[in-house]
Amino acid sequence: MNQIELLWQLQNLDSEIMELERKLNAAEIKERLKEIKLKFDAEKEKLDSNKELVDRGKKEIRASKTKKEELRFSFQKTEEKLYSGIVSSAKQMEAMQKNLDETQNTIQKLEDKMSQLKQEVEDLEEEEKKGKLKLLRLKNTFDSLKKEYTENRQEAAKKYEALKEKRQELVKTINKNLLRSYNRVKTGTDTAVVLVEDGKCSGCHMEVSVLCMQHLKEGSIVSCETCGRILYQRES
Ligand SMILES: [Zn+2]
Repeated sequence: MNQIELLWQLQNLDSEIMELERKLNAAEIKERLKEIKLKFDAEKEKLDSNKELVDRGKKEIRASKTKKEELRFSFQKTEEKLYSGIVSSAKQMEAMQKNLDETQNTIQKLEDKMSQLKQEVEDLEEEEKKGKLKLLRLKNTFDSLKKEYTENRQEAAKKYEALKEKRQELVKTINKNLLRSYNRVKTGTDTAVVLVEDGKCSGCHMEVSVLCMQHLKEGSIVSCETCGRILYQRES
């Protein structure tokens, strides 16, 4: 195999290695995991404060119930006294009747408040149910994504090691000067070796000169006169 073909292989290997590095880094998955975690935390916080409201509401209902029972008891006592015949003063009777009316009124208000509170608690509990379900879903998504990430990572790491070894072997077979040019021309994800297609450099799409084509045919290493990439004339 000639040198340029080996270099071409090296470049393909490097692309594969770079792709694996990207996979190993898994920036997108990490970003998504972070997003899910944030959503989960926000939902959890909402659920906690919801729980607090439910507890407070229930406590208030219990207190109202006790208060109502006390008022009922006092109402009964007053009523018994009023109709027992003990009280004979019209003024006193009138005051007692007024007291009964007021108590009745307060009880009614308490009952209204209680039924409103009950409705509120019910709504909150409904929200709580939905929130718990949401949390569960988020947790499942997070877990399966994490699992996928871990598995992919292990697989990619194994492959990565194999490719690195293969690269080491391949590099040994390539002329040092050529390797140096390759490393110099190759920047980031850009390619260093490009195919000559229809007499044009496929890197910059400029025509390759007749002289360069001649050198290529002779098996020399030729760089594109325009972009400097190393030209590869594939044998057809
Ligand atoms: Zn070029």
